[in-house]
Amino acid sequence: MVQDEKLMEKIVALCKRRGFIFPGSEIYGGIQGMWDYGPVGVLMRKNIKDLWWKEMVQLRDDMVGIDSSIIMNPKAWDASGHTQAFTDPLVECKVCHLRFREDKPDEIADHEKIHKGEKVEWTNPQNFNLLVKTFLGVIEGKESQAYLRGEITNGVHVNFKNVMDSTRVKIPFGIAQIGKAFRNEITPGGFIFRDREFEQMETQFYIKPEKEEGEKWFDYWKQNRMDFIISLGIRKDKLRYKDHEKLAHYAKAATDIEYEFPWGFDELMGIHNRGDWDLSRHQEYSGQNLKVKDMETNEEYTPWDIETSGGVDRLMLVLLIDSYKEENDRLWLSLSPKLAPYKAAVFPLLANKPELIEKAKKIYQDLRQDMMVAWDDRGNIGKRYASQDEIGTPFCITVDFDSLEDQAVTVRDRDTATQERVKISDLKEYLQKKIQT
Ligand code: ATP
Repeated sequence: MVQDEKLMEKIVALCKRRGFIFPGSEIYGGIQGMWDYGPVGVLMRKNIKDLWWKEMVQLRDDMVGIDSSIIMNPKAWDASGHTQAFTDPLVECKVCHLRFREDKPDEIADHEKIHKGEKVEWTNPQNFNLLVKTFLGVIEGKESQAYLRGEITNGVHVNFKNVMDSTRVKIPFGIAQIGKAFRNEITPGGFIFRDREFEQMETQFYIKPEKEEGEKWFDYWKQNRMDFIISLGIRKDKLRYKDHEKLAHYAKAATDIEYEFPWGFDELMGIHNRGDWDLSRHQEYSGQNLKVKDMETNEEYTPWDIETSGGVDRLMLVLLIDSYKEENDRLWLSLSPKLAPYKAAVFPLLANKPELIEKAKKIYQDLRQDMMVAWDDRGNIGKRYASQDEIGTPFCITVDFDSLEDQAVTVRDRDTATQERVKISDLKEYLQKKIQT
């Protein structure tokens, strides 16, 4: 699967070394498909989610947010078809009994290579349900079975009526949600590409049930999501649309935005015209009326849904891969300042000069009221630059002896390594302007 193995290895190593991402429960030997986000990674993840939320909810008149529970009434999963059809076709290697997805021929081919020339036979494909089961209840043996949600969509649809009744939204409008999802993935892998626990960012946009409306909003969200990804600084030539040739039985149109990972183009997010599948099914299974009344014609209708669905972890992986730079012994992440874990780092030139420390600490304390700022007074300045480069800090601020006289500091730019002298009184505004671009 992986062509540029070295790059993935380097990114995994960097993530561990610098506190972005650790293998889940590592001291116990780990657990497949689970990852823990460290002190630096958690900041970047939060930036991704905040930026997405700002664009989808804060800046839009036609979108509201929700945060639904992870465990739902199991009937909701019958309604959405997950208990019957949330499956991957699975084949088993007859030599070592490992299982792989039949629809991932690259992974099957990779596995055959492990057997080095030996003839590998595979079982016929069998469907495997991806829902993760759990049990609720306090009396042993009397627990009831439930599921950890396999996607976050369902929690939105079951609250469609609640949202309409409690806010002033009118069709067309959307509901946005960010939250964890769980899948018993058969082949988790590609670092945080395919996990068993992951986080999704989704919008369900409800529209009138008309073909033209469906096409208009599907095209709109396709463009909107591509623009968003490009606005994060991801290289355009690494992105493409891939329309689904085989549509799911409920879908009217579906496309993926793909990124060129080291192993080739693969899905980053999806945009789907789901028609009225979800609301109709929830109406049928719950017996509740989820229809909307058209104020002009007085007719009732079940809205269609245009969905956008992307993974926080997958986007984070794309950002790490796309921003990873190595040149002349320098290693840095050219992350957009909006996403960088720390916006700036403050250094006193020397750690043993109280007057420098005092001045630098004041600047640090002042800046951190408005942004995440790192502090470093260890080793030489070159080492401190290198350390901030590795976690993508866009600006390093050095307080030197001249600062005590001219009330200015040296600001070094991560990508160009150029330095600029900036007045301390202008520093916050200077950084804020640069961070927003
Ligand atoms: P794939 O076939 O690549 O596993 P999918 O087509 O099943 O993904 P969807 O059900 O459409 O994915 O989920 C929407 C988005 O959620 C995906 O585009 C991806 O960003 C994210 N996602 C889905 N499954 C996972 C996973 N196991 N780990 C991390 N992110 C995931």
